[in-house]
Amino acid sequence: MNIGIDLDDTIAKTAHSFFKYGRKFNKEKNIKFKIKRNEWDFDKAFGWTEIDIKNFFENYLEDLFNSVKPKKNAKKIIKILKNKGHKIIIITARSENDTENIYNITKNWFDKYNIKVDIVEVNSKDKVEKCINNNIDIFIDDRYLSL
Ligand SMILES: [Mg+2]
Repeated sequence: MNIGIDLDDTIAKTAHSFFKYGRKFNKEKNIKFKIKRNEWDFDKAFGWTEIDIKNFFENYLEDLFNSVKPKKNAKKIIKILKNKGHKIIIITARSENDTENIYNITKNWFDKYNIKVDIVEVNSKDKVEKCINNNIDIFIDDRYLSL
C-alpha cells in the first residue's frame, strides 16, 4: 500500500516546540498575553498581529522545526510498515511561504532521526490533491480532511 502520513503532531511533537518558541518570542518582544494552548490561530493562541506572525516565521521557524522531536514509536512503526513492503509518503502543509528551504529543513529532520521514508511532499495545502497524485491508499493525520 501507499501510506500517506502527515508530519506535524502526527509523527512529530510540533505543538510542543511551537509553544516553547511562542513563549520565547512573546518574552523577547514584550508581548503580554496569556498563551492559549487550545487555539490553532496564532492571533488567538499567542496574541500576535500579522506583523508578529511574519516576524516569528522569518526569525524562529527554522530553529523551531529543527528542535521538534519525533513522537514515541513513530520511527519504529514506520520501519515496521516499510519492512512489510509499504511505501511511506509524508504529506505536510509546511510551506515555502512560511520559511524558504522548507523541503531541506524537513528532509534533513528525517535524516537526523534516521527515519526512512520514500517521499517527502511539502507545500501540501491541499492534502487530498496530494493523496490523489501519489495514489495514496490510506492517510494518517492528526486533523481530519474534508473532501
Ligand atoms: Mg498535523
